[in-house]
Amino acid sequence: MELSKYSFGVGDRFSHQGEAQLRAILKANQAGVDVSPVWNKSNREHGIVKTKPADVRAEADAAVKALGWDKPYFVDADHINLTTVAPFVEASDFFTLDVAAFIGNESSKEAIERFLTSCEKYKGGLQIPGIAEPIQVNDELLIAIAVKFLAATEQAASIYQYLVEKKGKGNFITEVSMDEVESPQTPVDLFFILKMLADKGVPAQTIAPKFTGRFNKGVDYVGDLKQFAKEFEEDVLVIDYAVKEFGLPADLKLSVHSGSDKFSIYPIMADIIKKHDKGLHVKTAGTTWLEEVIGLAMAGGEALEAAKEVYASALSRKDELCGPYADVIDIDDALLPSAEEVNGWSGEQFANTLRHIPGHADYNPSFRQLVHVGYKVAAEMGERYYSLLEKNADVVGACVEENIYERHLKRLFNL
Ligand SMILES: [Zn+2]
Repeated sequence: MELSKYSFGVGDRFSHQGEAQLRAILKANQAGVDVSPVWNKSNREHGIVKTKPADVRAEADAAVKALGWDKPYFVDADHINLTTVAPFVEASDFFTLDVAAFIGNESSKEAIERFLTSCEKYKGGLQIPGIAEPIQVNDELLIAIAVKFLAATEQAASIYQYLVEKKGKGNFITEVSMDEVESPQTPVDLFFILKMLADKGVPAQTIAPKFTGRFNKGVDYVGDLKQFAKEFEEDVLVIDYAVKEFGLPADLKLSVHSGSDKFSIYPIMADIIKKHDKGLHVKTAGTTWLEEVIGLAMAGGEALEAAKEVYASALSRKDELCGPYADVIDIDDALLPSAEEVNGWSGEQFANTLRHIPGHADYNPSFRQLVHVGYKVAAEMGERYYSLLEKNADVVGACVEENIYERHLKRLFNL
C-alpha cells in the first residue's frame, strides 16, 4: 500500500465533521495539489470521547461516499503501541507506531556491538548529498545513538511484526513516531534511526521525529524558525539518502505532528519540499474540535450557551484537563478571562477570541489552549453536544472547512 506524496491528517474528536474536512481536501485537489486525506485518532482520544476505531472508519467511508471521492484515503491508528493496537487492527490501514516511551531503554551489549560493527563505513566524515558540511561520526556518537534508539526501534519492529501477522504484509501504511518527547532528534540521529528500522525490517513510509522548538497544542510554533528550517531541510536530505542507502520504501517522507496549527513553519516546509521535490505528511487533530466550538458560538442561542459552558467548566477543571497535556501546552493564567466575563460575550467575540488568526486583536492563545484540552467537557455533555452539532451542522461545517482549507492547506501547499 502506497501513501500519496502529499497527505494531510485530520482528526475529528466527535466524528461529525468528516464531510467538511473532505470538502477542504477536495478544494486543494481542485486547486491542483493531489493531497490525500488521512483520518487519525489516538487511543487517548477514543478513551476520552468514548468512540471506537470502527467509528473513524465509518465516518471516513461515509464522507468519501457522500462526496464521491475516488482517490486514496486512509484511517490512521494514531500513536498506538503493542498494548493499545489490537482494537485498531480491523478499522485502520495506517498505523503510527509510537515508540517514544522506549527511547533510552536498555539494549544488550551484543546488540550495541552489532550496530557499531554495521556502522563502520559511516565513520569519519559522513557526507549526505545536499548537506554542505560532512557529519563527524565516531564511536562515541554511535554508542550514544545506539543507547538512545536501539530499544525504541526494536519496539517498532515488534509492533510492525504484530501488524504483519494480523493484516498481511503490504496491506497498511507504517509510520514510526518519536515526537512526544522533550529533546529533539537531530538529522544525524534520524539517519541512524532509519538505519536501525531498515536493519530490523520495518519499511517505514512516514517518520515523525521531534523537531526543534515547541509544538504546543492548538497554537503556533514557538522556536527559532531559522534553526527549524535548517533541521527540516537536513531531515529531508537525510531521508532521501537513507532510502537509497538502506533500501527503505521510496515513498518514505517526514510526518509533522503539528499539534494543530503550526502556521509559521508551514511556508518553510512548503518551500523546502518544493525545492527538493519531496513528499510530506502533516497531522492535525484538535483544530477541528476548536472549529466546532467556534461554530457553535457563532450559531448563538443554546449553542453559544454550550460553548460558554465548555469554557467555564474547563476553567474550573484546568489542572485535571491540562494534566495529560502538560508537556505540550503553555497557558498564561493571567490571560484567561473569568467565566463571568466570557458569559457576557457575544458569539462573535467568543469566536474571535478562540479562532486562530495570528495578529487578530481578540485572539487569545491561552484561551484557545484551554478549550483545546477541554474536549472532555463536551464529551461529558454527551447527547446534548451531539444534537447541537447536528442542529448547527451548516455553520459548524463551514468553519471546519474554511479552517482546513484557508488556514492550513493554502499555507502548506502555496495555494
Ligand atoms: Zn504526535
